[in-house]
Amino acid sequence: MIAGACVAFAVVNGLVWWQKREARQNGAFALLAAGAALLTLIELELLASTTIEHYAQWLGHYLLATSLMFVAIMLVCRYHVGAGRDLLGWLAVLLRALMVIVSESGDYQRLYFEVTRLEIGELLGQSVAVVSTKPGPLTVLGQLSLVLMTLYLVDAAATAWRNGLRQRALHVAYFAVLIFLGGIWGYVSLWSSSGAPLIIAPLLLPVVVLMRFDLSSNVIRALELESRLVESERRLSLTADAARAGLWNIDLSTGRAWLTPRTRDMFLLSSTEGMHVADAAQIVHPEDRRRFRRMFLDEAGQLRTASTLEFRVLMPSGEIRWYESQGSAEPAAGAGGTMLMGATIDITTRKRAEEERLQRAQQIERLSRLAIMSELAATVAHELNQPLASMLSNAETALLLLERESPDIEEVRKVLTEIVAADERAAMIVQRFRSLLKSREPQLQNISLRDAVSGVLAFMRGDLSRRGVVVQWEPGEDPCNAMVDAVRFDQLLINLIINACDAMNTKRPEDRILALAVAQRGDAVVVDVRDSGAGLAQDLNTLLEPLYTTKSDGLGLGLVIARSVVDAHGGRLWATSNAPASGATFSFSIPSGGGMA
Ligand code: ADP
Repeated sequence: MIAGACVAFAVVNGLVWWQKREARQNGAFALLAAGAALLTLIELELLASTTIEHYAQWLGHYLLATSLMFVAIMLVCRYHVGAGRDLLGWLAVLLRALMVIVSESGDYQRLYFEVTRLEIGELLGQSVAVVSTKPGPLTVLGQLSLVLMTLYLVDAAATAWRNGLRQRALHVAYFAVLIFLGGIWGYVSLWSSSGAPLIIAPLLLPVVVLMRFDLSSNVIRALELESRLVESERRLSLTADAARAGLWNIDLSTGRAWLTPRTRDMFLLSSTEGMHVADAAQIVHPEDRRRFRRMFLDEAGQLRTASTLEFRVLMPSGEIRWYESQGSAEPAAGAGGTMLMGATIDITTRKRAEEERLQRAQQIERLSRLAIMSELAATVAHELNQPLASMLSNAETALLLLERESPDIEEVRKVLTEIVAADERAAMIVQRFRSLLKSREPQLQNISLRDAVSGVLAFMRGDLSRRGVVVQWEPGEDPCNAMVDAVRFDQLLINLIINACDAMNTKRPEDRILALAVAQRGDAVVVDVRDSGAGLAQDLNTLLEPLYTTKSDGLGLGLVIARSVVDAHGGRLWATSNAPASGATFSFSIPSGGGMA
């Protein structure tokens, strides 16, 4: 029975170790159980002996089985308990090995125990062999090896106890007692003429029970872990489902993939068996396939630990969808290698919204140019009239001067110079107007915002005076530099000035005051456009809604454009009421060192 139980344990543990080589403690347990089974069977053979020769021969084998158990006990201590002084253990095993070699050489009788008498006694109604022996010179080696093994186990138990492995320490201590008592009993039954049969196998039964205990606590732990794992997997899949995410694991060495049902649906894969990462790449858009395959590899072919990738997939219907995969490379549990794990979500809606936003922004930009053109066409016509008129009158003057008998060349030169200046001013106006209307890539320059404001006021001079607006503007000392796109800055300021002028339309001409201020505040330059108009009828958020307008000919885009320009420069736009004075102040800040987003 004992041998049977031991064999069963040897097989179970051996199989565990065979399947999972890193479970070395199971391998050690298997060896220990095999040794115990062997020892028990040999003991059975000894008890059934009827001749001295037969007994002596099996006594030699008995020695071999105890040596095997010594090695197994050492391995259990090392792999299961992680304690024990190797030197002591190996010394004990070495002595045993020496005795095995000697005993197998055939001279066992004379050197170890010489069986001098064999009698058939009785134990629990069964006949058993009882022997008397004469110890040989090597007997002391056996005893020494026994003491060394006992010491090894006591030391290992103490170390395990100190390391907090109390339960395992007690098991090892029990081994020590067992080995010692078993050894003593073995010697007593062989040595003297005690009349006692050599039976120590029953002492091995508790060893088996202890191993069972360890095993079952492992099984219980495994079951607990499994239920926790199932629970955490359930939670994970609930979370993943709520986030509409498909989860995946890829074994990098084999390319094999594990996918959740949602991931399979996303990549239009049907089977779960033997899935390969290349199967998922099938529906990736051809232009994105290379990036998809190299998601975890950098330019030098090195593995990236974490990576995010946005890519398109081509549905059989021809529809293009956008996915985003996020993953990280982790060392695979167990057999080494690397595991890629992560999640994929469908971001098509977000991508489409982004595209629409971009299209809308482009549309607004186009409309803004149209709006500015309609607002400024009159101004430009008026502005151009003045230099054209001056050129005409100057040209006529020049002609008159030349008709004289002796024309004053110096006078003519002066008149012509004025024509050139007027032409240059006309060219400047046309040039500025054109640049305001042209669609172009943003160009950042470090410019003085004070100069920029002066430039815009000069450009709008005609329009402002036509509207009867008094401009309060002091250029000041500090240039207030910032990185801006000059044309966009002009568009922004022109929109705010036109709004301010519109808000003052109902005021008497002497009450139409437009005040501009530019100041450096901390890391930003702040520009204020203050009017004495009707004031704010709504909060800024409402005014900023595209197409919101209170004007009969308004487009409701001026402030939207103003805010998008300020945002693009990393700044902020706000509006305040001038109470108790009338009117409103629109302000914006632009970071001095900022750049366009
Ligand atoms: P629009 O000028 O075409 O109406 P905007 O987006 O520039 O479009 O302005 C939206 C609305 O905000 C205006 O119709 C006006 O009611 C209000 N608004 C803008 N600037 C001012 C201001 N300086 N004072 C009072 N109200 C203003």
